[in-house]
Amino acid sequence: MQDIQTNELTVFTVGGTDDVIAPVRGRAVRLPSALQTALADRYPDPVARLLGEAMIVGALVAQSLKFQGRLVVQCHGTNDGAVSLLMADCTTDGQIRGYARYDEAALQSVMLDNRDPGAEALLGGGTFSMTIDQGQDMDLYQGLSAIEGKRLSDCAEHFFEQSDQIPTMMRLAVGQSVGDTGSLWAGGGIMIQRVAEDGTRGDTSDVFDTSKALMSTVEDAELVDPELPMERLLYRLFNEDGVRVLDRQSVSADCRCSRERLANTLKSFDAAARAEMADEDGMIRALCEFCDVEHVFPVDEVAPA
Ligand SMILES: [Zn+2]
Repeated sequence: MQDIQTNELTVFTVGGTDDVIAPVRGRAVRLPSALQTALADRYPDPVARLLGEAMIVGALVAQSLKFQGRLVVQCHGTNDGAVSLLMADCTTDGQIRGYARYDEAALQSVMLDNRDPGAEALLGGGTFSMTIDQGQDMDLYQGLSAIEGKRLSDCAEHFFEQSDQIPTMMRLAVGQSVGDTGSLWAGGGIMIQRVAEDGTRGDTSDVFDTSKALMSTVEDAELVDPELPMERLLYRLFNEDGVRVLDRQSVSADCRCSRERLANTLKSFDAAARAEMADEDGMIRALCEFCDVEHVFPVDEVAPA
């Protein structure tokens, strides 16, 4: 029996046979506890929900990268919204983290007009971007799209349309499940992409169009519900054309901020800059916005040897 509390990403295909590559590939993610770790007690509900969506987008897309690295999802809002920045990243190993910057007064005024504001209302439009970070000395790849629609899945679909021209459909949902220990943030998402057609595969649009129609029937509760195994949901949706699970990968809410790396960065500044950063007690304080941990360094400790 599958552990329902597992934060997991499932890689699957729809259609195809042993000899013919499937016309649709997909990824599904279910985060029954990782979102709780990242979101609980840090953000008002609408902001937490939106950040959870960004983290799900990150997890779904990061897994498709063909090398070690991380995918960074960023949303920059405008003055018309309440959230100025959303940032979520996910490594190809499945470590996700995220943070949001928002203005409480602006959020109150957005909520006056809209009790259930989505991406466009909370951010006031703005830009959605995904950046691939392959590590030091490697180029970043970045693409941008406009923030439109209620869900960040709308932005991600536009992004793929514009940058990769890969027909993509994404559904995601974030909610609070009520359990024995109170209400917990949980979420899930599914992304399907049409594989380009070629001589052996033939036309891939039929299976993709059917899969899209089936995926539009998914209810938010089905995506979020930790008691409904993701594989059962995928089977229910895509069984007719044949769904195959190719791989599973665990996902975790881990921040990778490192005291050592921060210390090295501080050592690279000159002494005057370090003195400027230190408070009156001679301490430099650096807050990691992802995990809310403050790293504190005595100024002498970060002076180059
Ligand atoms: Zn951190």
